[in-house]
Amino acid sequence: MNQPLYPDLNGQIALVTGASRGIGAAIARALARQGATVGLLARNEKRLDSVASEIVSHGGRAFPLVADLAEPDRMIEQIRAFQADAGPITLLVNNAGVTRDQLLLGLKPADWDTVLKINLTGVYHITRHVLRDMLKQHRGSIVNISSVVALMGNPGQVNYVASKAGLIGFTKALAREVASRNIRVNAVAPGFIDTAMTADLPDETRRAYMQQIPLGRFGTPEDVAQTVLFLLSEASAYITGTVINISGGLYM
Ligand code: NAP
Repeated sequence: MNQPLYPDLNGQIALVTGASRGIGAAIARALARQGATVGLLARNEKRLDSVASEIVSHGGRAFPLVADLAEPDRMIEQIRAFQADAGPITLLVNNAGVTRDQLLLGLKPADWDTVLKINLTGVYHITRHVLRDMLKQHRGSIVNISSVVALMGNPGQVNYVASKAGLIGFTKALAREVASRNIRVNAVAPGFIDTAMTADLPDETRRAYMQQIPLGRFGTPEDVAQTVLFLLSEASAYITGTVINISGGLYM
């Protein structure tokens, strides 16, 4: 396990979407280790409970929020309940994301819509809601999890790449809107990270990707979590509207 590198987040309330596994769970654990109270949002109650219990068993504070980004009204209800229990949210990580890969000619409208709805429209709903807390507190840090494919393209992923590139535009526009209110908005663009999302890649494809990664390995969820922690904390107080790529050099 990586040693925590970043400052104390005691007293801060964080919300992480897609925290039931993979990168989101690693970010939630890292935030809790630094003292933040963390709301973990995803659909799978069992997996959320397991990550939350693990955090609590290590002395952290974690609240599972069972919600679907595709159902904004119900999701906002869950977030309101979390805010009532834990307090105003000052740290937000928009991490949940899905893929429905297909070459453009075979890509069904439903698979275009689903990816945009979860990866981009979901971020609009949640950020719009949570921003009110940050404006009242006169502070906040938001990190959006984009992808290196938003910077370099990838065949078979026009829906996913459009959503992740949209997220970068969203990040920069919002960063300019709220900078004067002491709220920072940044994005990270992970390369290939070992999670459920990349677990089904055929060995041959995996080897081919590996050859293009100068650091010679896929990343871990903790590699991403450490950079997100940096962007959330005061260690990055003068950074806003930026995109940090975490790709082992795949994209330079
Ligand atoms: P993952 O293991 O598939 O986890 C995705 C998370 O999102 C899960 O917690 C899932 O939980 C949640 N989620 C999915 N649909 C949701 C919905 N409709 N409502 C609420 N939660 C939902 O993926 P990951 O690899 O950790 O990826 C995390 C983020 O990093 C994603 O945005 C992904 O695009 C991005 N990313 C990943 C990689 C990579 O190589 N792994 C590279 C670049 C960027 P439930 O199923 O419980 O809802």
